[in-house]
Amino acid sequence: MKYAEKALTVLANGAWIVFSRLNRIRRRPSFIPPWSDKPLLKSWEKTKPQLGWPRTTDSLCPKCVIEARERILNDEQDYQTLLTDNIGEIKATILERDGQILMVKDCPTHGHFEDVISIDPAFFKHLEETFPGRDIRAHADEALHNHGTSTILYGRGSVLTIDLTNRCNMMCDPCFMDANQVGFVHELALDEIKQILDNAISIKPRRQMSVQFSGGEPTLSPHFLDAIRYARKVGYKVIQAATNGIEFAKRPEFAREAAEAGLRYAYLQFDGIGNAPNSHRGVGNLFDVKLRAIENLFNAGLSIIPVVTIVNGVNNQQVGRIVEFALDNPRKIAFLAFQPVSFTGRDEKITDERRHAQRYTLSHLAHDVKQQTGLGEPTRDWFPISFMSTFTEWADLVHGPEAQWGQATCGCHPNCGVGMAMMLDKETKEAVPVTAFLNGERLARDVAEVNDAARGWWLSILGMTLAILRNYDPFNAPKHLTLVALLKKFNKKLSASESKRAKNDDQTVEAKRLAEIAQRRGNRWNFLFIAGMWFQDLFNYDFRRTEMCIIPYGTQQGEISFCAYNTGVGWRQIIEKMHMTAKLTKWYEEHGRHEIFAGGHNVPLDSTEHTLTINPEAVLVGAQTDLDELCIPKTPREEKLRARANRIRKAAVDAEQETDMKNLYRQHVLKQPLMVQIQSSRRSKL
Ligand code: SF4
Repeated sequence: MKYAEKALTVLANGAWIVFSRLNRIRRRPSFIPPWSDKPLLKSWEKTKPQLGWPRTTDSLCPKCVIEARERILNDEQDYQTLLTDNIGEIKATILERDGQILMVKDCPTHGHFEDVISIDPAFFKHLEETFPGRDIRAHADEALHNHGTSTILYGRGSVLTIDLTNRCNMMCDPCFMDANQVGFVHELALDEIKQILDNAISIKPRRQMSVQFSGGEPTLSPHFLDAIRYARKVGYKVIQAATNGIEFAKRPEFAREAAEAGLRYAYLQFDGIGNAPNSHRGVGNLFDVKLRAIENLFNAGLSIIPVVTIVNGVNNQQVGRIVEFALDNPRKIAFLAFQPVSFTGRDEKITDERRHAQRYTLSHLAHDVKQQTGLGEPTRDWFPISFMSTFTEWADLVHGPEAQWGQATCGCHPNCGVGMAMMLDKETKEAVPVTAFLNGERLARDVAEVNDAARGWWLSILGMTLAILRNYDPFNAPKHLTLVALLKKFNKKLSASESKRAKNDDQTVEAKRLAEIAQRRGNRWNFLFIAGMWFQDLFNYDFRRTEMCIIPYGTQQGEISFCAYNTGVGWRQIIEKMHMTAKLTKWYEEHGRHEIFAGGHNVPLDSTEHTLTINPEAVLVGAQTDLDELCIPKTPREEKLRARANRIRKAAVDAEQETDMKNLYRQHVLKQPLMVQIQSSRRSKL
């Protein structure tokens, strides 16, 4: 079979050469679909920010920004200055030094800052070189994209995040949005949620996006299920919840209700295998909670995406174990989302020492996956997430000029997000990077050529098929993978076949949902996507990235890039305060206190049963001790405690030295008897 396929790929290569030549003759102009006022872009019309290095870009001073934000929060400065005054903005240079790519910048007031943005220049170069360019410039958006230099300028984004509440039932340290710590509640009412979703479909290009309900903990909002239903009602196909999983672990029926309301994915906070790597979140049985949540969510028909915040020296050794966990549970884990740590929220005032020790970049991730699992060559198998946009633009082309929505696409900056696609045989668990058997870069160039010709459905399908065939190497593919199965996966991902869509329209919503689950779970092959998104912080902030952000927050003040909302000038605190629902005390009076699991307490679970495959050795591995061995604190709280202990210790030493000096003076100048220092019992405990 592999030999027959090989022969077919050789034939396809010949056919492609003819097809490609003919296809360049009188290419058709791109059409303007109903979901955009601008035509689809030809590959040569796509713009790019300056890439390569050394280069200069616009960034922020980590100190100036915090000071300005505090003035705004204290009503000493109008927030409108954020729209006009380039608050805290400084130039930064991206350069190579000692085999690393760095961002270096100087603030006239606060001095020099520098941080690592890649430990592998070749990998960084590969990502920037395979970046296909920006999506259609955003339009019909003036009212919603209006945030000064933090404004999103390009594309439509791929994940619309809506915070339902800033309340949370955990108290993580660190937490990027300071949940339960700001002294007031910001909780959207249902009509505000509906308004944000109505606003979202008014922006063009009107592309499909995943609508992500987040927080705090979104499941605490009384409007959680209605919000899901409304997002489906306005036309979004994929709804997900960024959740810690506690409510789903406690109540299987809640998972069913969410699935029937239209939830598709649980974006599940997940820091490692076993309770040890999750211990920094302060819940004693957190790993058992995750396993129970996955079980209940899966049984309800949902797919689970573990979302892993990676901190160097804290849980980076979990990368391989988490990939293994996904490979061992191919029917339950659809996708892996790694998020290198971003020092925001409770971590914004991090010390340089801890920042440099804990810094983790996308290049670390590609290397750790390879070192810890043997999977993937960084510069062959990892691509910027936006690499996929050439394929989604092909989908826009074959969906044609009548389609009401553009295909969901990821057009982010190459420094923002990366991914490696694995083809996973759910029966044998054989896993192979897709670009080990598909020439990814040439396939993308071929598909761009098909897009540029802008032919009709049949010729575009033919072009894509020939491109896949000629770039396919059956001998490097998984043992049981066939070309037909591969083409079916592409068709499913890009929903190319018209007929498929027609069939779905006359089914009830529930019947369609169950059919879709059965079809998805029945398929032997899984495209397991191992993705990394590196949210910015004030030390590596780059406005070129936020301009093309693919994770807009839907807020009461328009749509703002995730990084501008949570880090950058920090629109979150400003908007949440402007639109606070109630002061905490008043909220507790009216609604009572919500349950918070912290301080090592367990979440009460009816059962810890699950059907997941877990490597028992991985569960027994204790917490990482790299930073302890270096005497570097792991969390803001540890840092604060250590700083206070150091201050007290220094004060004691200073007092001792002062006494010594005074004694020397008394003895040698005043010729008087020595003074004796009395140590208090409290000090001796330190
Ligand atoms: S959220 Fe931040 S890292 Fe992600 S695409 Fe937007 S700007 Fe880039």
